Order: sequence, then C-alpha cells, then structure tokens
Amino acid sequence: MKIGILSRGPKLYSTQRLVEAARERGHDARVIDVLRCYMNITSNKPTVYYKNKGVREQLQFDAVIPRIGASVTAYGTAALRQFEVGKVYSINESVAITRSRDKLRAHQLLACKGIGMPITGYANRADATEDLIEFVGGAPLIVKVISSTQGKGVLLAETDKAAESLINAFRDLDTEFLVQEFIKEAGGSDIRCFVIGDKVIAAMQRCAKEGEFRSNLHMGGTAKVIKLKPEERALAVKAAKVMGLDLAGVDMVRSNHGPLVLEVNSSPGLEGIEKATGKDIAGAIIEYIEKDSQKGPNKITGKG
Ligand code: ADP
Repeated sequence: MKIGILSRGPKLYSTQRLVEAARERGHDARVIDVLRCYMNITSNKPTVYYKNKGVREQLQFDAVIPRIGASVTAYGTAALRQFEVGKVYSINESVAITRSRDKLRAHQLLACKGIGMPITGYANRADATEDLIEFVGGAPLIVKVISSTQGKGVLLAETDKAAESLINAFRDLDTEFLVQEFIKEAGGSDIRCFVIGDKVIAAMQRCAKEGEFRSNLHMGGTAKVIKLKPEERALAVKAAKVMGLDLAGVDMVRSNHGPLVLEVNSSPGLEGIEKATGKDIAGAIIEYIEKDSQKGPNKITGKG
C-alpha cells in the first residue's frame, strides 16, 4: 500500500517508527507535512497537492495516518478531510479528531454516553465561579485550560480562595477553561490505554515525579507496564468508540468509585508506550490499517 503519514515532525520517534513499521511490512511509506498540502475543492475530482522545494505534485495514497499536532488542528483536519473526500482511507477520521481535540465537547459526549469522568464544571460568567467550585466539591480542585496538552494547562488550586483567583485570572485573559474535581486518591498517577480498533493493545501507568500531581511524561513522569482490570479495558474501548477514533490513547485515573476518563487523545505518542511495554505498537497500527482499509474509505457523513 502507499501510506502517507501526516506529520510535521519527520524526526519524531512516533513518525519514524510508523515509517519503519510500514516499510518492514512491505508498504511504501512517506511523511507529509500537512501545512504544505493545498487543495482544489471541486466536486468532480478532489485532489491534494503538495509543494516541496517549489515542485508541485498531486498526492496519491491508499491510506493515511494523521498525526496532527494541536497547534495545526484546523488546517490539518481540513487537509485530511480532502483526502477523505478523495476516498482515501484514514485510520482516524477528521471529524473524530476535531471532536476529541475540544475538551469541553469531548467531556459532554463522553458524559452523555455514560462514561465515568471527574465532575467537571464550565461557565462563561464570573458570577458562576462560586457555584463551579461548589459543583466539584470545593478545593483542592483542578482548573484545566481547554486547549491544554502535555499537562501544561492543568493546575491544582489547594484552597477555594486560590481557585477563585485562578478562575478570575483565566477569565481576564480570555482563556477557556474547565473546573474539575481533583481525584486525590489517584496519587499522581494515571493510566494510558492504547486502543486500536476495539482492543486495548497496550497499557502503561504513568507516575508523577515527587511533588507533582501531573503524571505526563513531558512533566517528568515515569512509565511502567500495568495490568488493566476488565472494567478499565472496556471503558477505554468505549471512550475511543464514543469519540469515533480507531486509534486512541485513553487516559484514566483510578478513583474510589472506579476508573474515570480524563482524556481521549487522537495522536497518542508511541515512544513512552513502546519503551514501557516492549511492544511493537507501530507494527500493530500498520497491521490494523491493512485489514480495516479493506472495508473501504471512511464514510463522509457530515456529522460532527
Ligand atoms: P493534558 O491534556 O494537558 O495532558 P490532562 O487532563 O490529561 O491534560 O491532565 C494531565 C495530568 O494531570 C493527568 O495525566 C493526571 O495525572 C493529572 N490530572 C488531570 N486531571 C486530574 C484530576 N481531575 N484529578 C487528578 N489528577 C488529574
């Protein structure tokens, strides 16, 4: 197959591993920078063009693997949509990526499908601040910037007063945020479940470094293999399905009342999980694409 890996980072571990795994399995793999893609939006012959060093070419793939960074979601998903319109198979659909990138929307969808999550509040007006704090059971609580990635916009307020100041500061800065119940018993660790299709193919526990509650590896967290409970496995698969993602990294914490989903990531990194588990995740992704693409390209439903 001709496989396009839509990534702005050809040197990133995940990108390189996907290229390597595709080539090992006899495919023609190529990394494409989505920002260099451009399109002619016509109904009869949808095409994606690519310009590299001034030379224009028409891109033709049997399958694409979107690895679209949060900073280029809008343009990246537009380019991906153009591939979809041209009937190219994509492991994750553009609408599913957009859906999972918006934390508020993702939380609402997960909640309405009965997926357990920490209690989460959201409001536009300052006069709701006190209520938001009350909804989530008071401090300590979490304030999360909606566009946060790698834990950078996730803050812990130890007191109601600190929470109020933080909320007011974000409001003044016009930054969208969520207020969330702090799951103290998670003890600074979370679980990353790597979902492909309807299976969790690998899982790791990430533990925050000393004095930190965020377990992101980018925040100095460490990873180790973990054996999932059946309910955690089922929850991860269901959360990915609700988002419409065939490839997903589902993050959850263990609370006193069972597992709670924090986030569903559409471009989960491969380095941490491959190194922690010793599994060939990139190979598993390519193998899945070989089978799933036989069913034909994604259906363009127009539904968000
Ligand atoms: P990001 O998308 O920026 O990584 P997350 O929502 O995944 O944001 O949060 C980052 C980390 O912070 C999580 O991996 C987890 O360790 C911790 N965390 C987030 N929300 C909570 C919460 N409600 N209770 C306890 N820990 C949390």
